[in-house]
Amino acid sequence: MAVQHSPFSVNVRDLVNRPGEMREQRLDVPAPEQYGEGLVAVRQGSEVAVDVRLESVHEGILASAEVDATAEGECGRCLTDIALPVEVEFQELFAYHSGEAFEYEVQDDHVDLESLIRDAVVLALPFQPVCRPDCPGLDPVTGLRLADHPELVTPEQTDPRWAALAGFTASEDEGTVPSASDADQKRD
Ligand SMILES: [Zn+2]
Repeated sequence: MAVQHSPFSVNVRDLVNRPGEMREQRLDVPAPEQYGEGLVAVRQGSEVAVDVRLESVHEGILASAEVDATAEGECGRCLTDIALPVEVEFQELFAYHSGEAFEYEVQDDHVDLESLIRDAVVLALPFQPVCRPDCPGLDPVTGLRLADHPELVTPEQTDPRWAALAGFTASEDEGTVPSASDADQKRD
């Protein structure tokens, strides 16, 4: 009976014990399980695209991968549904079985990228995902999205001390991004 391989397992028989050989491969695989437990996660079944470069080296197979996926969930401020691109890279040596304890080994002429892909994706997921960087969140009284109801944004919700501080630091920051007031002056 054939060994059951994970969907992210790659056959490297053509590279085994041929140092210097190299091959690139693309995998488009539905996530076999959900990746992540937070506000956003890569859902089971959503497509995970992996571009992997496999290099035969003396000790084993060096895998360098770029992973593209989409995390779905909720904005941490306004709870609206969001989808965020997830792009991560990793490199790992899959050693030939040598009796030494390697975390990753070439097994049955295959390298299994699944746990590496899962770990890299989970680490890349934001703890505080937002629909947009300046999402104003929800109105504390009505629970409505402030982005949809700008009339609910009262001046008190923008602390004037922060506005003043922002202007102060911008003007002290010589030679960097011009502040809004500088830009206004230069436009003339
Ligand atoms: Zn939001």
